[in-house]
Amino acid sequence: MTDSLSTSELAALTARIRACRICVEAPRKATLPHEPRPVLRASATARLLVASQAPGVRVHATGLSFNDASGDRLRQWMGVSRETFYDEAKIAIIPMGFCFPGHDANKGDLPPRPECREAWHDALFQLLPRLECVLAIGRYAQAYHFERLGRPQPKGLRLDEIVRRAPDFRGAGPRIIALPHPSWRNAGWIKRNPWFEAEILPLVRAEVARAIG
Ligand code: SF4
Repeated sequence: MTDSLSTSELAALTARIRACRICVEAPRKATLPHEPRPVLRASATARLLVASQAPGVRVHATGLSFNDASGDRLRQWMGVSRETFYDEAKIAIIPMGFCFPGHDANKGDLPPRPECREAWHDALFQLLPRLECVLAIGRYAQAYHFERLGRPQPKGLRLDEIVRRAPDFRGAGPRIIALPHPSWRNAGWIKRNPWFEAEILPLVRAEVARAIG
């Protein structure tokens, strides 16, 4: 596929995604509790993928991926400025659910809508051939991308085991690094696992610099 063909096909696909109404017009179960607002960033030239879970309420309101405190922490983990993070030519940001899924009874965010992956993700990733590194944030993105890249995770691994084994999972082809969600909710997990900041974040920063450098 030539670059210009890939770019035009990607533009057509992302336009269809941004107009998507599946979760209000043909949901699998409960209807999305608000108007869809798909949020993603992708270009055919991107070499680094931030594979995330689903927009939170602030991202839903602004339409800008990781435009919140979690995004500030993620940028710090990656060692990049806001300007670099939002350079769409270099970094794609694609959650497993493109729309904010709503809140559960405890005011936590619901999981990403499964309709999204079923309708869009396989086609979308076929049009992103240059990705060299995937930062897989949270278990939904990890399950999908490890499988997609032919490296399914051994069953039953805990988050800390998946994250700590990042060097083992790089393999041939695109590198994949599993990360916890950079939400304040995981501050306790980060404190209990000091190897994450000491061993994994230097690896993350090196891989990010290599991919976008
Ligand atoms: S979550 Fe995905 S499938 Fe559902 S309406 Fe939004 S873009 Fe469409």
